[in-house]
Parts: sequence; structure tokens; C-alpha cells
Amino acid sequence: MEKENKKGMGNDFLALLSQKTLVIDGAMGTMLQQYGLKAGEAPEMWNITQPDIVKSIHTSYLEAGADIILTNTFGANGIKLQKLGFRERLLELNEQAVKLARKAADEYREVHQQPIFIAGSIGPSGEILGPCGLVKDEEAYAGYEEQVKVLASSGIDFILLETFYDLNEIGIALKAVKEICDLPVFASMTFDDSLKTIYGISPEKAVKVLFQEGADGVGANCGSGPETLYKVIAQMRVLTDAPLLVKPNAGIPYIDNNRIIYPATPQEMAEYTEKFIQLRVNIIGGCCGTTPEHIRAIAGKVKKSV
Ligand SMILES: [Zn+2]
Repeated sequence: MEKENKKGMGNDFLALLSQKTLVIDGAMGTMLQQYGLKAGEAPEMWNITQPDIVKSIHTSYLEAGADIILTNTFGANGIKLQKLGFRERLLELNEQAVKLARKAADEYREVHQQPIFIAGSIGPSGEILGPCGLVKDEEAYAGYEEQVKVLASSGIDFILLETFYDLNEIGIALKAVKEICDLPVFASMTFDDSLKTIYGISPEKAVKVLFQEGADGVGANCGSGPETLYKVIAQMRVLTDAPLLVKPNAGIPYIDNNRIIYPATPQEMAEYTEKFIQLRVNIIGGCCGTTPEHIRAIAGKVKKSV
């Protein structure tokens, strides 16, 4: 099978990563909620209906100091879109997401003359896979295959598989990436306070299996705040010198007056950033509840450390 052409800067990206810590952006979904995205509404649809807002969020993360921005494609895999009833829009949603990220990156680069990288975000199907689940492994593969093809041919620098709980499912997505393109790929799972995923996967197991299956980097994102993910990443770092990524939530959310509040302040994220740098984490950013202010605090520490 002929692989998708690499239009991005995948090799530059891995080379730079071996020299310095890079900052990846913060949340997209919870930022869109601030702009009025409703519960149950697909954030990816805003690539079409509210492109200026999506692009302005990318820009605000770049201005805060992010070196990497993630496409608004977390839920735009075949299985998830099919469930929402618009699988036929997979191409359009993913293509448009890359276009918006590239536009924001190009505009920023023009003024600031520094390398900016675009990561294609791929999240889980939201279904239970395998013999007990409703979705078969082959169907999940096809769903990821379709998304990876579009992302890889639209011009991204690497792929981030993120927020996976199931080692089997992230392995399927990873296989699709490896078979379809030559882009670097990071594989990140979601651990809770038990330091395991809800499928019982330990950091140790994730590191062993995901590197074996060809990931260029492994990581932990979402699910918990920086304190827990620090413990997860520390366990990973003992086992490998290869690239690691961390994107904690802004703490564990609680509800106040019908509003979801993420308690971790930018200052707290900055304190943990120092600890992540000591663990030689290669990519540091934020997940749910983080804002450009959190990323500014993280970037401040990262840039001071080089
Ligand atoms: Zn998250």
C-alpha cells in the first residue's frame, strides 16, 4: 500500500524534540463550551459552523507560548461520527480542522519566525471493542484508517492518539497510523488516581506495549490533574529514555451553580511544569479545563529552563 505523502515537518519535529522541551496547547472542548458549545454537541462541527472561533482558540494558544497546536478532530473518527449520524462528513470535518490549525500557525509564524507544529488529534471511539463490545476491532480499524488518511494528507506534523483507556483500542489506532503514513505518532492514555486506566492498564504496561507497537512517544493526558499525572509519568520515565508527553486536566472538576469548575490554577500548573522538566518530559501542555493562561504559565517555565 502506498503511504500518504508527508507534507508536514515530522522529521524536524523529532529532531527538535531531542534537543528541547516543547509546549503543546490546552483544552479545545472546554474552551468551545465557554463560547457556547452545548452538552452533546460535537465540537468538531464547529470547524464548519464556527471556524473563526476554532481558529482564534488556536491563535490564543500560540500567543500564550505553545509550540504545538492540536487539530479540533478528537472525536472525528469513523465510529464516533457514525454514532452521531454524520460519518459522511468525516473528510470535511478533518480537512477543515487541519486548515484552521494551519492558518493560525502560518499567520503566527509569519510574525514570530519560529517553528510551530501541528498535531492531528485522534481520540477513542467511545465504544467497547472486542468480543463483548458492539464494535468489532476491524470496524474500529476502518474508522481510524479513514481519519488518519485525511489528517495525514492534509498537512500535519505528527499524530497524537489521546485519552485512550483500552490498550487494545489504542493499539488498533496506532496500527492504522503506522500502516497509512510515515508521520511520527505519540500514544497517550488516561490514568486516574489509582494510577491505572479504567481498563486497569498501568503506566508500565502502556510504555512497554505502545513503544513495542511503534509509537515514537508515549504519554498521559486527561482524567486527572498534574499531581496524579506526575506520578504516572515518573513511573514511565524509570522504564524509558524515549519521548514522553503529559497533558493534565486543570485538576478534578466540581459543579458549582450548574457550572463545571476546574480548580487547578495556572500557577499550580507552572509548579508541576518544573517537576515535569526534571523528569525530562518532552512535551508538556494541558487537557480539559486548561486555558491559554495555563499554557502561558507552563510555557514560562519551559522557556526559562532552556
Ligand atoms: Zn481532557
